[in-house]
Amino acid sequence: MGNIQLQGVTKSFGETTVIPSIDLEIADGEFVVFVGPSGCGKSTLLRLIAGLEDISGGKIVIDGKDASDSPPAKRGLAMVFQSYALYPHMSVYKNIAFPLKMANIESATIDKKVRDAARVLNLTDYLERRPGQLSGGQRQRVAIGRAIVREPAAFLFDEPLSNLDAALRVGMRLEISELHQRLKTTMIYVTHDQVEAMTMADKIVVLNKGNIAQVGTPLELYHHPRNLFVAGFIGSPK
Ligand code: ADP
Ligand code: MG
Repeated sequence: MGNIQLQGVTKSFGETTVIPSIDLEIADGEFVVFVGPSGCGKSTLLRLIAGLEDISGGKIVIDGKDASDSPPAKRGLAMVFQSYALYPHMSVYKNIAFPLKMANIESATIDKKVRDAARVLNLTDYLERRPGQLSGGQRQRVAIGRAIVREPAAFLFDEPLSNLDAALRVGMRLEISELHQRLKTTMIYVTHDQVEAMTMADKIVVLNKGNIAQVGTPLELYHHPRNLFVAGFIGSPK
């Protein structure tokens, strides 16, 4: 579970082609970072995978099944939104439980899943608080908790730390990496920050104007950038 293949995926908005054609395979359990400058198509690509946008052409295959036309809820993926997407009037417990309640899961099962997620995320002592009574990092963990309880085949993150201050960002970066090591679930993480990419990724996908400039491990990209664009973004030119 958690294998995602993009086969000739394209995306246009009206006359404007944002993704000319992308082929990419994400292996089960991999931590993949999409990195590139603002406007290069990172969010669009993630939203296509999530099913929040329709592809204009090509195919998206998730765990061997053509999911190109599947609605988001059928893809088994969980998008982690920025922490401000929490419900301010609900407790942490209810925020995390929300997707399970929507799915009509019985409350004893919900309770176990919420408490398990809270334990993993060090939120056990904060379950009765409201988001407004938490730090930025704790709020981001609640947003992750809401994804964890759904036990997705993959987590999709779109610049989840961009609202946090620099010190907190470093801490959360480590927490998300630890979470990946513990859960061993596929994660796709979008950022324009090359330090996040270099420190978190198993595999980095560098995007430039909707095209893949290069795919590789952090060390491969650092030592062997294919062109000046990649070098300027990640490594040193050779
Ligand atoms: P990134 O996340 O890398 O900053 P985006 O995926 O948000 O980039 O945007 C890529 C390009 O697609 C941009 O030029 C943006 O203006 C365009 N774009 C994104 N969403 C839409 C939309 N709904 N309609 C028209 N153009 C869009
Ligand atoms: Mg974006």
